[in-house]
Amino acid sequence: MARTVNQKRDTTENILHFPSNKSKFLKKILVAGGSGFLGSHLCEALLAADYDVICIDDLSTGRIENIKHLLDLPNFTFRRHDVRTPLNAKVDAIFNFASPASPPAYQADPIGTLFTNIVGARNLLELARRRDAVIVQASTSEVYGDPLVSPQREDYFGNVSTIGPRACYDEGKRCAETQFFDYRRLYDLKIKVARIFNTYGPRMRPDDGRVISNFIVQALRNEPITIYGSGLQTRSFCYVDDLIGGFMRFLGTSPDVTGPINLGNPTELTVIDLAERIIRLTNSKSSIIHLLPAVDDPQQRRPDISRAAAQLGWCPHVDVEDGLLSTIAYFDRALRHAAAGN
Ligand code: UDP
Repeated sequence: MARTVNQKRDTTENILHFPSNKSKFLKKILVAGGSGFLGSHLCEALLAADYDVICIDDLSTGRIENIKHLLDLPNFTFRRHDVRTPLNAKVDAIFNFASPASPPAYQADPIGTLFTNIVGARNLLELARRRDAVIVQASTSEVYGDPLVSPQREDYFGNVSTIGPRACYDEGKRCAETQFFDYRRLYDLKIKVARIFNTYGPRMRPDDGRVISNFIVQALRNEPITIYGSGLQTRSFCYVDDLIGGFMRFLGTSPDVTGPINLGNPTELTVIDLAERIIRLTNSKSSIIHLLPAVDDPQQRRPDISRAAAQLGWCPHVDVEDGLLSTIAYFDRALRHAAAGN
């Protein structure tokens, strides 16, 4: 690799601002979906900020290896649990990251995805209500569907198909948001809703099926890079540490800061541009091939993050090429590890 990443310089900026857990009110935090890609990074950040963490996950798409380095810590507990079943725990705050998130994963079990989002949100909201806990929802840019306006602001209602193959995820997440705001109106619950735009980084699964993991794995193996459709569709990619920094800041806000708040990196790339960058950064011999477009694939996506800037004092710091290099290094290690039969 031609460049190395000064990851520390680039990614600690937000971490430095994590609220420390000297608050008398928030001590024990439940992370639903805590052994997934984003959930495991969040558990780490919460532990680093001195919270006690209960991680729950049904391990359907999450992996125990994402949290194995945390399992022996005295202030970390893991419980295997599916959020579609009601749960109890003595907690002061809850993060809901429980859902498959890549299109192939959520489309492989559409009804399961829909109800994980709808019933899971309900069960966690009920827990928050019983405990008078703060509850933070990991919502998604998919609530905007295939947007007709760009960049997307939080007051845009979206353009979502109710009947297409993405609807199980999009409508599940939209219904979860609806429940959050109804619980606030009905019970004055302390809710916070963040809408996550495409996020990438270490701990993505090599077989996750999302564009960054697919392209990096293909490039490292010198296999063809598979672009669905023209490749002129756009996404805006946020490095995981930046995103987690946004959630940590959100947790520290007062009850009137409910969101929804977009969290993402506004640097917009076409899928072709992404493929070319990954080929260059990996020195790959991969060619680019075009496959059929994905059904209902959003053609443009870019967050307006002015609300996050105003209400959280947050913006992303990691340049896309630095983030890609650290992600490439992670996949390189993961593939070597797998090839060695470990
Ligand atoms: N994509 C692609 N090739 C792949 C995987 C994805 O061209 O191997 C495209 C996909 O059609 C979409 C974009 O990359 O336009 C982002 O897809 P991803 O699954 O990462 O996330 P999405 O934002 O669609 O949920």
